[in-house]
Amino acid sequence: MRIARFTVGDDPRFGLVDGAGEKLAEITGDPLYQRIELTGATYAVADVRLLAPVIPRSKVIGIGKNYADHAAEMGGTPPAQPLMFLVPNTAVVGPGDPIVMPPQSREVHYEGELAVVIGRVAKDVAPEDAAKVIFGYTCANDVTARDLQRSDGQWSRAKGFDTFCPLGPWIETDLDPGALWLVTRRDGEVVQDGTTADMVFGVGELIAYASAAFTLLPGDVILTGTPAGVGPVEAGQRVEVEIEDIGVLSNPFVRH
Ligand code: MG
Repeated sequence: MRIARFTVGDDPRFGLVDGAGEKLAEITGDPLYQRIELTGATYAVADVRLLAPVIPRSKVIGIGKNYADHAAEMGGTPPAQPLMFLVPNTAVVGPGDPIVMPPQSREVHYEGELAVVIGRVAKDVAPEDAAKVIFGYTCANDVTARDLQRSDGQWSRAKGFDTFCPLGPWIETDLDPGALWLVTRRDGEVVQDGTTADMVFGVGELIAYASAAFTLLPGDVILTGTPAGVGPVEAGQRVEVEIEDIGVLSNPFVRH
């Protein structure tokens, strides 16, 4: 099932998207909390504005250096344990929303990533039980002010600016995350071309590790790390993150 959050100019609604990504069947409420029932209303995806498919209730958990080839391009090796950081939910925006490059940074990078959406309250989850607490998966761009990441010595500001966590275009609930092709394009040029099979710590291990520290709530999001090929974006450019069997998340970058 593909679940989108959308608006036709008023309050956000939820809907089921067809396999072609073209048609939307509206449902009555937020499927994270309510049984799925169709309202009978249908829309063309092209005629609605898609929103971030979830607004994380309490937190976005990021994972750093979870692909060996990306750790190497950053001048290191993968950590022995998952490297976690937190992103405020105020950083989340949706498909097509502009990513605002802040005046504090001169070096803003894209990072295409698989995002996991948590479906239920979870604490101390064993890796083999992780699937029970997952609602679904979507695409993310873990936008990073690389210069501030270096100069601050920790990552809250560099990854936490407003608009720095676009999610979308929808949540795919039926998916095996083990070996999904992930590609990032900058103005149409392929800049990251990887597979989730190359994650150092898989989704189950990440949920186990994160839930050993934090209680996970429905709607929380885990960003699972980025493959090699990160790089800078200039204002006016557009970055697309495409993940096999999910779809394409596309956002323009702007400076005010
Ligand atoms: Mg990242």
